[in-house]
Formats: sequence, structure tokens, C-alpha cells
Amino acid sequence: MPFTPNRKFKQSPRLIVGSEGVHYDMADGSRVLDGIAGLWCVNAGHRNPRISAALKAQIDVLDYASSFQIGHPAAFTLAQRLSEMAPAGMNHVFFTNSGSESVDTALKIALACHRARGNAGRYRLIGRERAYHGVGFGGISVGGIGRQRSTFGPLLNGVDHLPHTHDLARNAFSRGEPGHGIDKADALESLLALHDPSTVAAVIVEPVAGSTGVLPPPRGYLRRLREICDKHGILLIFDEVITGFGRLGTNFAADLFGVTPDLIATAKGLTNGAVPMGAVLMRDEVHDAFMHGSVSAVELSHGYTYSGHPLACAAALATLDAYTQDGLIAQSAALAPYFEECLHALRGLPGVIDIRNLGLLGGVELEAWASGPGMHAQAVAQHCLDNGLLVRPVGETIALSPPFTLERRHVDQIVDTLHAAIKQTV
Ligand code: PLP
Repeated sequence: MPFTPNRKFKQSPRLIVGSEGVHYDMADGSRVLDGIAGLWCVNAGHRNPRISAALKAQIDVLDYASSFQIGHPAAFTLAQRLSEMAPAGMNHVFFTNSGSESVDTALKIALACHRARGNAGRYRLIGRERAYHGVGFGGISVGGIGRQRSTFGPLLNGVDHLPHTHDLARNAFSRGEPGHGIDKADALESLLALHDPSTVAAVIVEPVAGSTGVLPPPRGYLRRLREICDKHGILLIFDEVITGFGRLGTNFAADLFGVTPDLIATAKGLTNGAVPMGAVLMRDEVHDAFMHGSVSAVELSHGYTYSGHPLACAAALATLDAYTQDGLIAQSAALAPYFEECLHALRGLPGVIDIRNLGLLGGVELEAWASGPGMHAQAVAQHCLDNGLLVRPVGETIALSPPFTLERRHVDQIVDTLHAAIKQTV
């Protein structure tokens, strides 16, 4: 099983047998509030009627169509819808099947874009410590999680990392973007001086790092990265696999921060998790480099058998309707202040060393136990599950990323359950 202590799981399997709205039904008959939207993806609630109906209708019309040198209309309709939602000037889309594939696709597009422009010498990629960009070789190379890198050999050549932005000493218990840390973006200039900026193809960051503890960016940080990339002709990639599609109350994190990258990697919330799908959105200039600069008939030698799968397109179109026509992104934005208020009420509990939040993303960081990394958060998460709440332990942090259909009483339940779990797990 992926990212699972398999031996422990077999001893007491946790099995989900059904879902509805903001809840899961467990095999033991219990009902659990889903505080993490499946795995940061079921933003529009489980078994959203729009999405279920679209999938049922699609399977009876067109089951599969290749996207290699042929196509089907829904993929183009979806691409059009995505470019309408995306920041201005990002009118081109490449479909994948997951966040990992979107990240690797974005990195490859960045490298190939420079080559198409006649700059094949731009081959370096810069990621960041404490970044999670999925599990492809590209993603773990630019990713910043030691254990996920060291196990798999030398990885990609020519990769370096910015320092992470987590700074408890200066920023603990900030609400939203922390005030300190714009200087961490200046580290990019130091890396460029070390490597020669003309060798660097792209910088990739999660606007808010999710899986390494919910780390909102310091105020001004992303804008500073954008400025430095522009100064040196480097492409900026946002990994919005978690932050895309309303998680922060705006279509994309790029909208919230007012910083437009060159490429956005997405997945998860794109189909509400109902069918695997990812998409890479890109600026027109990136796309046009291939159309004007490529010497071969196939401008980009890349793609997946299931790129733009008809079922995934149907799910995604219905999901985007839920976000926009049913007002779910607005609902996410409207609930965020209450979510923030309730979450920060946990301050002062024993072992709570930081609380972070932005939009409907939250993190409660706990003091590490001597028994091992992450043990404290895992114990709290287990206590929550035993008491009807699914949360995600990521390192020493309890991560929250609930569906946008959450009501205030559910927020209260999350915080009450966490409160009890933290107090009783000491
Ligand atoms: N990028 C980010 C920021 C993620 O959070 C994730 C998954 O959590 C991924 C990439 C990988 O996505 P997937 O598991 O769909 O490959």
C-alpha cells in the first residue's frame, strides 16, 4: 500500500465502504467526518450529484478515446473551461492522470520550451526543501523530502534546492501568510550566482506546501521569486495540486497572491477525486515557443495513454460546474475566517507549538515525541479516527483540508475532536 506501514495496517485494517457529503462510512459501521477531503481532493463533497450523474451518462456514450493524433470534443471543452478559470494569459492545457505526472510534465515542458527557443543550455531545475511534488523521478528530484530522495539513487542531474520557509521562532501562530521570510526568496539569487543563471530552466514551488506541514508562504515571498525568475529568464512553476480549484478561496493560489507563474501543475480537485486526472496549465508564450520553434512535426514528445480520458473529462467538467455554478469556491472563501478562528482556539493546549492556516487549509504542529519522528501526530490522528474524524498526520503536523461543503457545525466537530485528542494524547 502506498505510503503506509503495511505490516501495521494488516494487523488492524481501516476500511472505507461508503461516502456521502462530508462523511465516510467505515467497514465497522462507524461514520467519520472527512477532515482532509479524501486526500486533499474531494473539494465538492463525496458523491457530489453533478459529478456522479456526469460519469453515469458518459460511460454509456464514449468509454475511451486516445489523444494521440486524434481527440474527442470534451477534452477541448475542458481545456477551454480551464483556461477561462486560469490567470489571464494561461490559455493552454496538457492533460495528465495525477499530480506526479503533472509535475513531471511541467518540468519537461519547461526544459523543452527553452530548447525550442534555442536555449538548450538551460537544463537546471530548482526546487525547495520540504517540498512534495509527487513520486515521479522528476518530482522527487526537485522535491525536498530526504527519505523520499535518498532511497532511490542519484535522481536527476542539475537540480538544486531553495531553503524551506518554515520558521517557528519568528512566525509561530501566524494567521494566513507569515510576516517573516521574504529573505528566503533571495536565496534564489545565491543559487543562481553559484550555478550561472543562464543554465537554469525553471524554479518549482508549491505556493503553500501541503504534505510537509501546511506552510503558507511568507508575505511577499512568491512575488520576489517571480521577480528574480523574470530578471534571469527562468520559468516559474507553481505546483497547485492541492491549492488549485478553490482550496484557498480563489480559483488558484496564483490569484490569491497576485503572482502568475509560467506553468501550473494541477490534479486532485480537478475531478473532485472521482476519476484520476491532472492538468498542466501554461502561459501562451510557453505554448507558442513549441509552435514557432519546434523542428519536428510532433512539437512535444510526451503524453499518456489516458491523457484527456473521456470519463475524467466528464468528471472534471461537472466538478468545475460545482465549483463555479454551485458557488463552492465562494463557499470555501466564506467559511475560511470561521475555520481560522476555531483552529486557533487550540492554541495553548499541551504540546501545540504552532497553528497555521490559509483558506480551508490548516495545520496544527505538535511537539515531537522522543519515541520517534511523527509519532505524536500519528497518535493524535488515531485518536481522532477512533472518535469519528479523519485528519492527516504529516510529520509533526495534523493537516486539515476539508470539503468546501463543510458547515460550521462540522468545523466545531473537527476542533472539539482535535481538542480532546490533543489533551488525551500526551
Ligand atoms: N504535488 C503536490 C503539491 C501534492 O500535494 C501531491 C500529492 O499530494 C502531488 C504533487 C502528487 O500527486 P499524485 O499523488 O496525484 O501523484
